[in-house]
Order: sequence, then C-alpha cells, then structure tokens
Amino acid sequence: MKGIDNLVANTVYLKAQNLCYAELRDQRLALFLPKPLRLPSGSRPPYDYLCEQQPIGKKLFHLFLAASDGQYVAAAEFLEELDQWALAEDEARDKAMPSIITRFCQQDSEGFLSYLTGDTALRCQSVSEKDFEEVMACKVKDATRTFLKGKPFFEYQRSPFFQKYLQWKEFEKQKITDKYFYEFRTLGQGGFGEVCALQVKNTGKMYACKRLCKKRLKKRGCKKLALLEKQVLEKVDCLFVVSLAYAYENKTHLCLVMTLMNGGDLNFHIYSLGERGLSMERVVYYTAQITSGILHLHSMSIVYRDMKPENVLLDSHGQCRLSDLGLAVELPGSKQLCQRAGTNGYMPPEMLRQEFYDTCVDWWSLGCSIYEMVAARLPFKDFKEKIQKEELVRRTLEDECRFHHKHFDDPTKELIGHFLKKRVEQRLGCHGEDPRKHRFFKNINLPRLEAGLLDPPWVPKTSVVYAKDIEKFDDFSNVDEVEFDEKDEKFFMELSTGAVSIPWQKEMIESGLFDDLNKPNSEATNGDEWKS
Ligand code: ADP
Ligand code: MG
Ligand code: MG
Repeated sequence: MKGIDNLVANTVYLKAQNLCYAELRDQRLALFLPKPLRLPSGSRPPYDYLCEQQPIGKKLFHLFLAASDGQYVAAAEFLEELDQWALAEDEARDKAMPSIITRFCQQDSEGFLSYLTGDTALRCQSVSEKDFEEVMACKVKDATRTFLKGKPFFEYQRSPFFQKYLQWKEFEKQKITDKYFYEFRTLGQGGFGEVCALQVKNTGKMYACKRLCKKRLKKRGCKKLALLEKQVLEKVDCLFVVSLAYAYENKTHLCLVMTLMNGGDLNFHIYSLGERGLSMERVVYYTAQITSGILHLHSMSIVYRDMKPENVLLDSHGQCRLSDLGLAVELPGSKQLCQRAGTNGYMPPEMLRQEFYDTCVDWWSLGCSIYEMVAARLPFKDFKEKIQKEELVRRTLEDECRFHHKHFDDPTKELIGHFLKKRVEQRLGCHGEDPRKHRFFKNINLPRLEAGLLDPPWVPKTSVVYAKDIEKFDDFSNVDEVEFDEKDEKFFMELSTGAVSIPWQKEMIESGLFDDLNKPNSEATNGDEWKS
C-alpha cells in the first residue's frame, strides 16, 4: 500500500499548489486588523525602511501620495514609471522614454515635477533621449526621493495611512504556531529533520519548512549553527537566494519556513532526467541567476561556502535560487577565514591548503558547478569515478582543468578557466568585478534578470512532484536522554521570532489579503478617511 500513500500525498500537495486565492476569501471574512500600537517616538525607522524596503510600507506611502495634492501624486507616478522604464525590454523602453519626458518634464503638463530646483530643474526641462538615463534615472530620481523624505514623509506619519501601517505591523507580530499552516508531504531530508511543504491558511501561500529536531540539535551541540543559518537567511532579501518567511517552534522542533522550491535541485536535473548534463541555454540562465545570488551574499560580506548544483533549487516557474545556507558565514573583522568547509570536489586550492580565504572560494566552486552542468562530471573527478580524497586534492592543486566534453564552447571554457584559477589573484570575481560582464552572458538582459522578469528556458511540469517518493525517506530515529534546561528553552524562544517582515508583507500583498483587510468596512477602527 506504500505506493498509494505516496500518490495521495502527491495529489493533495499538487492540488494545494493550484488553489486560487479567491477560494480562500470566505475564510478570511473573520479576519481583521488589530488596533495600532504607538511606535516609541525616539526610535522611528528611517524613510528608506518605512517607505521603500518594506512592501506594505511602500504601498501605504504611495497610497497616501496618490490621495494628496498634485506634486505628491506626480512624484509617486514619476517613480513608478521610471521603475517600469528601467525594467522594460528594448522596444518598450524606447517608447516609455518620450512619454515620461512629455508627462513630467514639460512646464505646461499636469505631471510637471515643480518641486525640482536649481540645476536639476533646468536639466530636467531640457532633457533629451540621449541624456535621459543620467538626468532622469539619477539626478531627478535622487531629487524626488529627497523631496519625498521631507514634508510628504512628515505628513504621511500623521495620516490615517500611517495608522494603517502601524496596524499591519501589529498584525505582523502575531504568534506563529503549527496551527497557522496546513501541512503537506515531505520534500527532502536534512541533517536535523525533514523538509516538508506548508500552506498558510489565511493566504494560500505555499512554503517549504525545514524542521530542526531540538533534541538532536542539543545532543550534537549544533544550536549555534542553527542560529547562524537562521540569521543569515533572514538577512538576505534576494530573488536568487531562498528567503525565510517565518521562524517558529513547537514542542519538538524549530521550524524555518522558506521559499518553496518545488522544481527539484540542479544535481537531479543534471544526472537523473534522460541525457546527462543541461542544454547550454539552461546553463547560461542558471549561471546568471546563481552569480547574482553569490554577488548579493558577497555584498553583505557573507561567504556561501557550499556552492554546488545540489544546493541550487528550482521554483515552479523554472527560476533558481541558492539554498542550504548552513555553511554560510559573515566574514569577521579580519575579512578572512581559515576553517575548511564545503563539499569535496568543489573546494578551492587555498581552502585545501588550509590557508586564509574569503569570498573568492565561491567563484571557484561556481566554476566547478558550471563545468558539471555542462559535462555531468566534475573538473577533477569523472562521473562515478571512485578516487581517494587525497588524489582529488592532489588533482585540484596540481592538474590543469581539461575540457573533453563536446558541448564546451569557447566562451564557456574561457569563463570556467577564469573561475578555476588556482591563484586567487588571477581568479575572476576576486577583485570586485562583476563576472556577469563576461561574454558568456551576452544574451542575458541583466536588469530584467535581476527583476526576475527573464523567461526561464525550462519550466517544471505542474503535474510532477520533483522529490523522492515519501516512503524512500529514512525514518528519523528517536533521540532519548536529552533534557532541556532553562538556557535551552530561552535559546529556542529567541530563535522563534515569527514572521519576517519583508517576505511576510509580500505574501500579504500578493495574496490579496492586504487589499481585503484594508477595505473600510472590514473593521471598526478609523476606516473613515481610508480609500484604496
Ligand atoms: P541540511 O542543511 O540539513 O542538509 P537542506 O537545507 O539541504 O538541509 O535541506 C534538505 C533537503 O530538503 C534538500 O536537499 C532539498 O531536497 C529539500 N529542501 C530544502 N530546502 C527546500 C526548499 N526551500 N524547497 C523545497 N525543498 C527544499
Ligand atoms: Mg543540504
Ligand atoms: Mg545545511
């Protein structure tokens, strides 16, 4: 009967994913926003965080602007149109430019940006398509932000829109427990427990939940590592790294609720689906996304240390993200590390020699991973080749990387060659340069890639579960003889911080719950002046 269990688990899981948000409307009727709490006046977060980084904060600020007088409306619309222009494809971009100029730069137009002063005002009025980027996307944009940070921001904080914001922040702080979610099948297994699929009852949003067994964590002395992984995950907000949406606990486990990546890992795609290796189109696309993810981590001084295809997961659209940040660390003040960490076959010479290293290790591992995506083997170890660890180390330190496989074209060989430079000084990516400028990526539109707008070359089938059958996962043995003391309990509580602001707010907006709960009649408190 085991096969049937798997079939049922898959069916329920697939059905949940295809659920449309509208089907949840009825359940939501009972929901309302809590009363706002006052922010302590000394510690207001800055404009950037309140009005730009937080999705709900940004939305409410823009709703405030739109409901205000001409200048505020024009500023808000200008920023929105500029964003759209920046992300448009070539043709649409060319079309958007003159329309922005007519609308916002001409004195007789309704949207004229009359708050601009001095040189910026003059440049804006005489802007042409030639200097559009420099004038509008830099100078005028900066001046617009400066304008908004002043009086409009001050007035916003005294408006009903800001009261709404405070109510949402209060709602965000709700305690998260198992009851907040529906639970679905196991998707994978990690060192401290399984990863399963979850769905938020209120919004229908699907997530993956990595469960860490508390007893196991304590017994193996890995509490600190779990904390590190959680802290890194909640810090990064990047389309190419899985993000943490909730951290909570139940009696037995710490639960990290993350972006659901249901398209399988790249290792699986390289080796387990028909012909081994990936098409060049896919290799370029994934490499561009992976590189963007690594650059993002590095920009925060985080070294990933576990770059390999197995740790790159695909989502339902076919876009990929880095996952398993269990080895990721922030560089200490000295900016160097020396502890060996990673996976055999992907570790660079400097690490194997136990020398000091930094973010450059990730570029070496990326070189190995690109090689593997193309050739379905590692640069220094053939497919299924059984060799001693010492021999693998020797080859990595001494041998030249060879390209036997017929699918390696010149740009690919060149790029891998640059990443696999044994000397860090010569390695691509190690001097602050952007590897995505290499000709290997010539067909990738970077701004569109970064905005997640580039169509993936391959899309996972919606009817397939890209995970092992549930009965193929090992049962976790019980861990006995572990008692928790006060310190442990305190640690578990500290880790269970509930919803993570930015992903949670995105979920509220995407699911429509934000709009539903903002309707004036959805609650009693100060709905009068509200409009959306
Ligand atoms: P560990 O650090 O203990 O190895 P991982 O983070 O690698 O745990 O997760 C274990 C497995 O769970 C992965 O190999 C993958 O199959 C699955 N998994 C992990 N994260 C996700 C996710 N975000 N979406 C879907 N599956 C995931
Ligand atoms: Mg893992
Ligand atoms: Mg891990």
